[in-house]
Amino acid sequence: MALTLYRRHTRACTKGYAQNHRTFRPQNAAARRADCQCPIVVAGSLRRETRRILHVSTETNRWDAATTTAARWEAWEALTDPTPASEPQEHITVAEAADRWIALKGPHGENIGAAALGKYLVLLYQRIVPWCVDHGVQFVSAFDNPTTVMDCFLSFKNLNPHRNRKGQSPAPAPAVVPLSDAMRRAELERFRGWLRFCVGQGWLRENHAMKIKLGRGTPTAKYGLTPDEEAQVWDAIELITNRGQLDQYNSRELRALCLVMRYAGLRISDAVALDHTQLVRREHGDGYAIKIMSQQKTKEWVRVPITREVVDALHALNFKGERDGRKFWFYTGNGERDTAVNNWRERISTLFKLAQVDRPFAHPASSHTWRHTFAISMLNAGVDVKMVSRWLGHASIRVTEAHYGHANRATHVASERAYDAALGGPPQQPVV
Ligand SMILES: [Zn+2]
Repeated sequence: MALTLYRRHTRACTKGYAQNHRTFRPQNAAARRADCQCPIVVAGSLRRETRRILHVSTETNRWDAATTTAARWEAWEALTDPTPASEPQEHITVAEAADRWIALKGPHGENIGAAALGKYLVLLYQRIVPWCVDHGVQFVSAFDNPTTVMDCFLSFKNLNPHRNRKGQSPAPAPAVVPLSDAMRRAELERFRGWLRFCVGQGWLRENHAMKIKLGRGTPTAKYGLTPDEEAQVWDAIELITNRGQLDQYNSRELRALCLVMRYAGLRISDAVALDHTQLVRREHGDGYAIKIMSQQKTKEWVRVPITREVVDALHALNFKGERDGRKFWFYTGNGERDTAVNNWRERISTLFKLAQVDRPFAHPASSHTWRHTFAISMLNAGVDVKMVSRWLGHASIRVTEAHYGHANRATHVASERAYDAALGGPPQQPVV
């Protein structure tokens, strides 16, 4: 048998078994008397599932029902039917499906314990149901669309964004903070559990959440600075310069490095190692660009346009060092580049902390935030995602879309504006 069935005891176990302790199906009268009502879960391998299955709930606390479910999974070689025979029969609403699940898990059902139940309440009534209301999703059957499942999952945000931010309470604007990796993993498992229940009830054909992969390469939204937050940073540089905490030269240097990252999207390691041969004329049209190795693998060079302000800021600096005919602005060219990069990262991190003293940013910020700010501002201005992807040196536009897809609405608006500008304004009469 590929799957092992066992009870996974909860804190609320009526027989007092330790939490997460396993007991197997009773084989004699004594074992039957010692049995409890904790959820029956399975562990093992199924050929069509990419990962080994661990503690997957059978959604029942009855051994015969659990055995039937496990046998069905083994026949499918998966947790959902790979060849669904028919359409789901019943159109049940998301809210109803949520209520039914909670009823099954709660005190009169599996009685999974207050803490575990609380997590399901959050998932269903603070994440899934509100998202469905916002997106006009009424029936559970909408989750037969993999995009709906993915979008819903990606919408999960930290509901207590300020809880772990020391010394910044009470925080003002409600921040949108992504879930930690551990939370995403846990929420995904619970989301899968609920969808599996819906499949089991015949409301859904397939559990598309099983295909969501976490870990390396997971699409995670990246956030840049808003214009107001950006202004706070430039103000902070001015403030520490005026206070004499930063001398005039160091101030110009810090500002120039930030400008390079903000207006060319360079990674801090590339920005610190920038040399004078990389400041070039644009290939198409007037003005300056920064020439950067876009792809280490393909050795492809790309010219990212930059503003006059960036060029002036660089020209106002002395070179720190020279090597092989290349003159560097932000490091000596000798010694470890990583050390210089780390020092700069520290300085920018300190700057960002200072900029948030009166008003914290909506998202955690690091030196990398400049790059996100560049990307998002370019997309919002209507620059083609293929171009932005090339400038950032992403391996594919899929990466760019995964990171900055949330900026899409603004991008669409900008594209429509560009369309109107190209073709002479929006239609005067509403189209019937
Ligand atoms: Zn138990």
